[in-house]
Amino acid sequence: MTRKERYKEVIEYFTKAMPEAETELNFENTYQLLVAVILSAQCTDKRVNMTTPALFQKYPNLDRLSKAEYDDVFDLIKSISFPGNKSRHLIGMAQMVMEKFGGTIPMTVEELVQLPGVGRKTANVITSVIDNQPNMAVDTHVFRVSARIGLTVNAKTPLATEQQLVSFVPTDLVYKFHHWLILHGRYTCLARKPKCTECGLTQICKYYNKTIKAEGMKSQGV
Ligand code: SF4
Repeated sequence: MTRKERYKEVIEYFTKAMPEAETELNFENTYQLLVAVILSAQCTDKRVNMTTPALFQKYPNLDRLSKAEYDDVFDLIKSISFPGNKSRHLIGMAQMVMEKFGGTIPMTVEELVQLPGVGRKTANVITSVIDNQPNMAVDTHVFRVSARIGLTVNAKTPLATEQQLVSFVPTDLVYKFHHWLILHGRYTCLARKPKCTECGLTQICKYYNKTIKAEGMKSQGV
């Protein structure tokens, strides 16, 4: 099977299995999504969603957040991982948007990564979700699942994974593909113990055919 054929199969499978894939973070506008994605680093979306309502109530926009006190923000997000760094990043991000970008969150990856707490992954999420730009955010799930299925080959970094995925996935599906892989990694292709018996990709998955299936045959003395 060629890599192109593997991508075709994966797209066909997810189109049927997950037609409505989208982010599990709750947000109502660009500001809220940016804050939620910054908070979600090494933290579950569920935890972020429990935290953001109170934060958005106190700081409903960038202007208000840019004038926030560190201790007040810390208090509202202390149940999230790395609350100290994230409090500084949120306030710093809001201040930079107000001072450098005239109060409007920029919509290019190059500009977004200048903001405190915003790396390439976050910038790709914002530009793809808000502006439908064909940018692929690679988190731990996307990195692992792509490699297991065989969508990426010898990709040693998130950037290498991003470049390989973007070169094969049709432009209009990049945004959705990102969510397919995240949700698949979160609920089925788990890091320690992938639920292969519940997965519809066993026929084409490199990891399954090389590791899981081979181990099963070995234990049966085949
Ligand atoms: S077959 Fe198993 S390893 Fe392959 S994608 Fe599915 S769950 Fe992951």
